[in-house]
Amino acid sequence: MDYTKSTKSQIVVTCPHCSTELEQTPGAGRVRRYCSAEAGRTYRRRMRALGFPV
Ligand SMILES: [Zn+2]
Repeated sequence: MDYTKSTKSQIVVTCPHCSTELEQTPGAGRVRRYCSAEAGRTYRRRMRALGFPV
């Protein structure tokens, strides 16, 4: 891990909804975790239905 660079540029995030590798937007901001807002909503709804505290 190179701490002189942004952590975001060094991690590969895969969408838990459809397993797509997500490109992170460089610079400040949150890490992208889902390919789309809709995928995030669907994923969290399904996990909650299964009893996970997402
Ligand atoms: Zn997705």
